[in-house]
Amino acid sequence: MRDDFMLPSLDLEYLKTTLTQLLLTPSPVGDTERGSDLCVELLCALGDLHVETTRKGVVVARWKGTKNDVPRAVTAHIDTLGALVKGIKETGRLSLSQLGNYSWNAVENEGVTVINQDGKSFRGLIQISNPSHHLYSSGEGNNEVPRSQKTMEVRLDERVSSAEEVQKLGIEVGDFVYLDPRPEWNGGFIRSRHLDDKALVACLLTAAKAIIDAGLVPAQNTALHIANYEEVGHGGASGIPRETEQVLALDVAPTGMGQNGDEFSCTLAIADSDGPYDAGMRRRLRELAKEHQIAQTRYFSRILLGRRRALESGRRYASRAHRAGRRWHPFARAHPPRRARSHHANDRRVASQRKLNIPKKTVFAPQFRENGFCEASL
Ligand SMILES: [Zn+2]
Repeated sequence: MRDDFMLPSLDLEYLKTTLTQLLLTPSPVGDTERGSDLCVELLCALGDLHVETTRKGVVVARWKGTKNDVPRAVTAHIDTLGALVKGIKETGRLSLSQLGNYSWNAVENEGVTVINQDGKSFRGLIQISNPSHHLYSSGEGNNEVPRSQKTMEVRLDERVSSAEEVQKLGIEVGDFVYLDPRPEWNGGFIRSRHLDDKALVACLLTAAKAIIDAGLVPAQNTALHIANYEEVGHGGASGIPRETEQVLALDVAPTGMGQNGDEFSCTLAIADSDGPYDAGMRRRLRELAKEHQIAQTRYFSRILLGRRRALESGRRYASRAHRAGRRWHPFARAHPPRRARSHHANDRRVASQRKLNIPKKTVFAPQFRENGFCEASL
C-alpha cells in the first residue's frame, strides 16, 4: 500500500438515511422482495456497478477491480426475523410461527402488521394469552408463564372474537406478520429491530459509495452480495460468483460474558461450533485494522452460523459445477428487475444454483460499525 494512501471518508449522513430506509422497508425471510429491490435501487444509484438479481432474489453487484487474480465477494443479508400466522384461535387471536429463531420474550408487546393475500394490512400486538396483571398477578400468574409459541399470540386491532370473524377479514393461516422496526436515532446511536443485518447492508453501501466518490476502484474484482435467506441458514448458498476466492461476510457480532467484544469496535469472528474461520484472511484483516487504527475485537460463536453453513454447502457442490462447466450466474438477469416473482418457482432452482459457488476462503463478520452506532437487537 502506498505511504500516502488515505482511507476514503464515509458519508455518515448517507449511512443514516440508507439504514433508516432499509429498516422501514419490511423484509422478513421469505418475503424480501421489497428490501432486495431497495438494495438494487441503492446499488444502481452508486454507479460503477453491474447489478443483477438471481431468481432466488439474491442481489449481486459486480464491481471491476484493478486485478482479478483473487476475486472477492463481500456479503450481508437483507432478510430479517418475522413470523407467519400459524393458526387462528377460537378466541379470534392468532398463533404464530417464527421466521428465523428468537426468544419470545424479545417480541412481547411488539406492534405488528399482518398482511393478507390480497395485500390488505391489519395492525395488532404480540402478547401473552392472559396478559392482565390485575387478573393473573400471583401464584400461577403471568410473570411465571414461560413465553413460548403456545402462550404467545397476536391480538388484532379489530372487533373480532372468533376464528370466523378473523377469516371474514381475509386473514388466513400463512399470512406474513411483520414486527415493527421502531428505528430511533439518538446522537450517534441507533436503537431498532432488524439491525441484523440491515446495519451491515447500509455499511456495505456506504463503504462502496466512499470508494466510488473518491474515484477509486477495488484492488480485485469484487461482488457485493446481498443474501435473502440468511435467517434460515442458506443465505450464502447461491449467487456468489463461481470464481470467487475470498468471501467476507458482514453480520452481527453479539457481545456477552466471556467474549472480548464491545459495541464500539469492528469485531472479527474467529470460529463457530463447526471450527475456525480462514486463518490467512483473519490475519490480513487484523493487520489492516491495525494499520488503519480501526478498533477491533474478536469473538467466538457458540452456534453454527447460518451463512457459513451455506458457504460450506456451496463448497461441497463446487466440483460438480466444474464438471458441468457452467459460467457463473446463468440464472441471473440484468436490472431493472421484474417485480412479482414467485418464491415457489425460485426455490426449485436453489439446488442447482448451489452448484455454482466455490468460495475457497471464508471469514465471518468483521463489523463495519461506525463508532457507537449499533445497539444489538433482533
Ligand atoms: Zn444476521
